Amino acid sequence: MIEFQNVSRVYKNQVRALDDVSFHIAPGEFVFLIGESGAGKSTLIKLLLREEVPNFGKVLYQGNNVASIRARRIPRHRQSMGVVFQDFRLLDDRTVFDNISFALEIFGYPNAQIKRKVADVLELVDLTRKAGSYPNQLSGGERQRVSIARAMVNNPALLIADEPTGNLDPDTSWEILRALRDINNTGTTILMATHASDIVNRMRKRVLELHSGHLVRDEEGGAYSVQA
Ligand code: ADP
Repeated sequence: MIEFQNVSRVYKNQVRALDDVSFHIAPGEFVFLIGESGAGKSTLIKLLLREEVPNFGKVLYQGNNVASIRARRIPRHRQSMGVVFQDFRLLDDRTVFDNISFALEIFGYPNAQIKRKVADVLELVDLTRKAGSYPNQLSGGERQRVSIARAMVNNPALLIADEPTGNLDPDTSWEILRALRDINNTGTTILMATHASDIVNRMRKRVLELHSGHLVRDEEGGAYSVQA
């Protein structure tokens, strides 16, 4: 599903954000992307979303070279991935329902279909009863679950979560991890960038660790820190 082949990304200031990074992620995997601030995690995600292109090497998504996607196809490419951010990025003046249906409107679906798709994803994150609420009437965990529902409404094969629990307390973080695990159990691939060591240590999923742009660890069932 995702393949990085000797990928390097050097920014104009000569910072090597990624340096000769290679890995492969199969459909249905749950992968943690870890590394200190500045290690290259966001750059890796931007390369997948085609917000950046590599200077060397190739990024393949579902067999296609992401850098060769034509400009007019880039929106469709991005819609084939769901993305969740640390800061939720919800529209405060729209209800939960409208925040999610917004992501469908550009496709011109009939109303009945929009209603059904939104209802399905709200059920997936257990927020059916909050469809008419506004974001400021929700807890942080509920807001993040709305953003997960929005990311999932187009049925993406991949869900990218960039530090999704960064603004949440430990209990609420687990609420988010349960939602991500349920989504992964339906077959969606999950790539989650995180600093939450307790989550990585308890979930024991595959860990990709970056350090100064180098992939220094690719470990199945790994802990946050390499144990002695
Ligand atoms: P992380 O997400 O792990 O914190 P980033 O991918 O954001 O890491 O950053 C990796 C390195 O690239 C850092 O040294 C950062 O300062 C640098 N960097 C990131 N984006 C840019 C940019 N647009 N221009 C120049 N340098 C950048």
